[in-house]
Amino acid sequence: MNYVPGDLRDQLAHVGYDVVQAGLVCGSGGNLSARIPDEDACWVTASGAWLDRLSRTSFAPVRISDGAPATVGTLPAPRTAPTSEIALHLALYRARPDVNAVVHLHPQTALLLDALGEHIRIVTTDHAFYLKRVSTVPFRLPGSAEVAALTAAMAADGTDCLVLSQHGCVVMADSVELAHKRARNLEEAAALTYRALALGRLDSLREVPEEFLDRLHDSSAVTA
Ligand SMILES: [Zn+2]
Repeated sequence: MNYVPGDLRDQLAHVGYDVVQAGLVCGSGGNLSARIPDEDACWVTASGAWLDRLSRTSFAPVRISDGAPATVGTLPAPRTAPTSEIALHLALYRARPDVNAVVHLHPQTALLLDALGEHIRIVTTDHAFYLKRVSTVPFRLPGSAEVAALTAAMAADGTDCLVLSQHGCVVMADSVELAHKRARNLEEAAALTYRALALGRLDSLREVPEEFLDRLHDSSAVTA
């Protein structure tokens, strides 16, 4: 284990610092969450929190089933207001019992491609392994019940990486570490796609061989 050990909030704080450094979001845009093991609750970033300056007090515990403030252990719920995108996180945890972490960012290259009407190409084995496929959620107002419901419906088939049109991306996984890797790989795949577009060669960009995709589907033992 060379990832951040221990408290999920420390893991999410590491994600926040890294994704800001990597340019995947700026200011207090984006938000992060993790399901608390064996609880009907998740930690979610507070409203207005800058992702590169998170500490344990930057997270609100929220009940997944109804969105109420949650009690964690014997501690009373802190009076921290959760992100305005809380409905999106809760809808994904309800739709996907296998998901334990949700990362929502505003990555420039993925959003530029979306605005140009281009989808992100899956070119390398890393991108195929971590992303598998990327779906695009049609525009709905950020923070709305509509965007939460539509995104959860589109993720229900096991899709882990989605672009929210004109807004951002949302990636999910069974661990904070894997969600983090997916977020980084999503923007890397977008950057590679964008370079091919800028070269005028997008039409001739080869995607990852079907043979590798078939192996990914057939076996969870494939490593990237
Ligand atoms: Zn957003």
